[in-house]
Amino acid sequence: MSEIERAGDDTLAAGSVWEYAPAPEATDILRLQDSYGLFVGGEFVEPKSGKRFTTINPATEEPLAEIAEAGPEDVALAVEAARSAHDHVWRDLSGAERAKYVYRIARQLQERAREFAVLESMNGGKPIKESRDVDLPLAAAHFFYYAGWADKLEYAFPNWTARPIGVAGQIIPWNFPMLMAAWKLAPALAAGNTCVLKPAETTPLTALLLAELIQEADLPPGVVNIITGAGETGAALVEAAVDKVAFTGSTDVGKRIRRATAGTGKRLTLELGGKAANIVFEDAPLDQAVEGVVNGIFFNQGHVCCAGSRLLVQEPVFEELIDKLKGRLQTLRVGDPLDKNTDIGAINSRQQLTKIEELVAVGVEEGAEIYQPECVLPERGFWFRPTLFTGVSQSHRIAREEIFGPVLSILTFRTPEEAVEKANNTPYGLSAGVWTEKGSRILWMAERMRAGVVWANTFNRFDPSSPFGGYKESGFGREGGLHGLEPYLELAR
Ligand code: NDP
Repeated sequence: MSEIERAGDDTLAAGSVWEYAPAPEATDILRLQDSYGLFVGGEFVEPKSGKRFTTINPATEEPLAEIAEAGPEDVALAVEAARSAHDHVWRDLSGAERAKYVYRIARQLQERAREFAVLESMNGGKPIKESRDVDLPLAAAHFFYYAGWADKLEYAFPNWTARPIGVAGQIIPWNFPMLMAAWKLAPALAAGNTCVLKPAETTPLTALLLAELIQEADLPPGVVNIITGAGETGAALVEAAVDKVAFTGSTDVGKRIRRATAGTGKRLTLELGGKAANIVFEDAPLDQAVEGVVNGIFFNQGHVCCAGSRLLVQEPVFEELIDKLKGRLQTLRVGDPLDKNTDIGAINSRQQLTKIEELVAVGVEEGAEIYQPECVLPERGFWFRPTLFTGVSQSHRIAREEIFGPVLSILTFRTPEEAVEKANNTPYGLSAGVWTEKGSRILWMAERMRAGVVWANTFNRFDPSSPFGGYKESGFGREGGLHGLEPYLELAR
């Protein structure tokens, strides 16, 4: 008998379970600089503000680099660079010429996908298997998709003359830094606009790597400008002389931006929060539904605007589904985002961790029943166990507010009508999921739910050709597909 077989016998005899060996992704592909400037007019420049901040790895709390903080003067310079590039170069290029640049970004992103994925996981905390298999491929796909439209705008909007709007100020959050950059830049560039992009304070690094890539792709200077900083930088960008503002982030900040742009003539799209219902009917294939529920709420640590954070279960299958779900939670591996086995990585920031902890404490105080699997969390960094709440009623704060963490609030229903009523009982309207074997029921539900996206027997599926966006406090405007081009175009007869 071989050594391995003997060892296996001993382990099994002792009744223990095999552990996964660590499988960390190597980081030597990265060439991180100690400090980064602002990307303005095709060059990295020192901030006029003279200010810098440190960006860290949320899984270790170790610093990664010093980042320039753009003040109002820096923002104005970036907008000027974008204006000049728009008026003198980009607007007048043919669609086919613009497409070449956008394709080039897409191809280079694919070629350097591993480097971007590693950096995304280090700076943001998301598991490498997600940044590698979801964020980066989708980001490249968006550039490919919109490059294809650049020279076909007259077919996209027949009988209209489509002209670019001008300079777009684009503000993105920390949960999908590269993907959100792609969602914003790709349609804007394809339509002939120039851009000033502000990534989130906690996740600036992949946007800065994208700036390097854009330099290498030889885009005319000023077509894309990337300015780093915190909320004040974003607010200054909204106030600056841009023609359009595109924002993804919290509903509170979205409301502030709407007030700031009202009456200015600036075009605006807002992609804000959500509190999606993931609805499981008694006839659903339960094992598949469990996987969909897990993906719906634990993907990217639950830092997902369209996360299925409210699970609605039809009463006859409640016990069975919860048992299966609890069993599945015990198999989720929480830890090092760079480990290829990791399912749940680090919470993006201490501030976000505090918010999750506070809302979970409220859930317990309000009388919901909490379940968390046993798991050992790393000593340093920001972590939160996957969490289920049962006994939740619609008035509980954990059923109403966006927690933006790995926390699922579970409610029950008896009839499809009750499911629709509960699903729509939220100020948000971004997404929803339905699990049932009946096609007619899927259509019946989808017609009645006020949600921008309704997934059927799946969840969190994205495609560049498919529009995404919300109703009510989830914002307005669509990203993706033809719909995603429209906010970047002036259409005239
Ligand atoms: P924010 O809405 O504050 O951040 C989103 C982006 O807006 C960031 O780039 C941020 O900069 C910037 N920003 C902040 N304040 C302003 C302002 N006054 N004017 C213009 N831009 C501004 O989200 P948070 O990071 O604070 O997260 C808070 C909560 O928001 C989360 O707990 C979650 O519930 C929700 N959220 C929802 C997201 C979604 O996709 N729907 C995404 C992120 C958060 P900076 O990062 O530098 O502060």
